[in-house]
Amino acid sequence: MNLALLFAEDFVSADRAVLTGRRLAHLNSVLKAAEGDLLPVGLVNGDIGTGRVLHLTDTGATLQVELTEPPPSPLPLTLILAMPRPKMFRRVLQTCATLGAKDIWLINSYKVEKSFWQTPWLSAENLRENMVLGLEQARDTVLPRVHIRKLFKPFVEDELPALLKNTRALVAHPGTNTPCPVHINQPVTLCIGPEGGFIPYEVDKLVEAGCEAVHLGRRILRVETAVPVLLSRLFDACG
Ligand code: SAM
Repeated sequence: MNLALLFAEDFVSADRAVLTGRRLAHLNSVLKAAEGDLLPVGLVNGDIGTGRVLHLTDTGATLQVELTEPPPSPLPLTLILAMPRPKMFRRVLQTCATLGAKDIWLINSYKVEKSFWQTPWLSAENLRENMVLGLEQARDTVLPRVHIRKLFKPFVEDELPALLKNTRALVAHPGTNTPCPVHINQPVTLCIGPEGGFIPYEVDKLVEAGCEAVHLGRRILRVETAVPVLLSRLFDACG
């Protein structure tokens, strides 16, 4: 936790917030904070700044909050991710939030097992918790939006074309002829496949919709590795 993310319900007055639960435990056990210390804080979807520890007890830390600067810029990215297996999903979502992805579409694909959609990690509460962990890591405050689409074809035919407008549209797919571009720094829509990869029909549909198939070399990366590698190639802000 490189920043404590604050929510409206944490505030007891305009400039005082009380940390409890996970954030308090972190303050005590990792940061070993003491009264008078200054900690990095941020208001969810708002500015970042500092919190001076006024009172520290076993049940809460009262901070005097001063918010002075905006959070880091978001990536100009629409990320379309075939739903990863639950064990990996949490980590991937945290990584996406840490890297500054703000618009995340979780889609179905032939090799996404039906059971993946049943995971409790997709509940609104768990999505938020993992995005918060990712944001706190990066000292960011802006929660990504997550959209869930459990049917591949209607998504690609009916919604994807509008998402691709005015963006560089890419589908990461091993074995294609074009290397993934670097330093794009312009709006990108990026599709990343499931653990088993997109099947040829799906790649064809994505290309038909306007995506260019690109590769990252001969090594096949896990989704959790492919995400940071792709984003750091495309955007200097991630490099
Ligand atoms: N056997 C699968 C295949 O050949 O497509 C491997 C899928 S890989 C584990 C999961 C996803 O990460 C891929 O669908 C792709 O989007 C991305 N990816 C991983 N390695 C890649 C590479 N070398 N080039 C392009 N994309 C890659």
